[in-house]
Amino acid sequence: MIKAVVTGHSRGLGAAVAENLLAREIAVLGLARSGHPDLAARSAGRLTEVALDLADAAALVRWLEGGTLAAFAADADTLLLVNNAGLLAPVGILAAQPPAAVVQAATCNVAAALALATAAAQAVAGRAELRVLHVSSGAGRNAIAGWSVYGAGKAALDHHARTVAADATPGVRICSLAPGVVDTDMQAQIRATPLDDFPLRGKFEALKANGGLATPADCAAGVVAHLLSDRFGEAPVADLRELG
Ligand code: NAP
Repeated sequence: MIKAVVTGHSRGLGAAVAENLLAREIAVLGLARSGHPDLAARSAGRLTEVALDLADAAALVRWLEGGTLAAFAADADTLLLVNNAGLLAPVGILAAQPPAAVVQAATCNVAAALALATAAAQAVAGRAELRVLHVSSGAGRNAIAGWSVYGAGKAALDHHARTVAADATPGVRICSLAPGVVDTDMQAQIRATPLDDFPLRGKFEALKANGGLATPADCAAGVVAHLLSDRFGEAPVADLRELG
């Protein structure tokens, strides 16, 4: 049986990934601060939701030690982990970034993803296949002014995937995948950023105005197709727009 853990399943790309997996009758454990009652109601009991702030390292460690993940994975012969939850803030030059927001972003965007990958590997303990998909971004591969914290976090996910792939652990596949530009709350947040903090804002306004954003459902269809494909993990760092 295939089962999936999806972080940030409450809205945006994560909600669409969870919905796509559930439509394939794959049970999903969703982790986010808020829930997705509508999706839960339509999931025939296959969506389990956990309210968790992934920017709170102590809360995450407490939850990981509580055994919920291991119990969820116990009857899976393939466990999927989609590290999707992400925070854009803080945006701006170094001196404009509140240090507390830097710590929160680094915890949610990097530390939680890495800790969940480790915990998932321990939960399957060589008994089942593990596929880890980090939701990355072009911002981790190109330097975008104003996004030093966000971009550094995505670059960290990319390098984590490269290095875990180098471990070549039997039964473990990993890919850090840039999804393209997707019409979510995060994009609305990008377009609402003051120009002084984010000089490239006009490019994202134009993408929205010209229909250049993927819908969450279309993007999720590509993400899940890749996650379930035989080729998953062949390239530890990939861009959904470049996959054939
Ligand atoms: P979004 O609409 O802002 O949704 C973010 C999701 O992450 C929500 O479900 C949110 O749930 C969850 N999340 C945020 N902070 C959290 C926290 N502290 N603890 C637990 N969950 C948290 O963003 P999105 O556009 O769907 O982005 C999803 C992923 O795609 C992110 O990793 C983002 O970096 C990446 N990405 C997006 C784009 C794009 O164009 N949209 C492009 C490249 C990469 P709660 O608020 O309920 O906690």
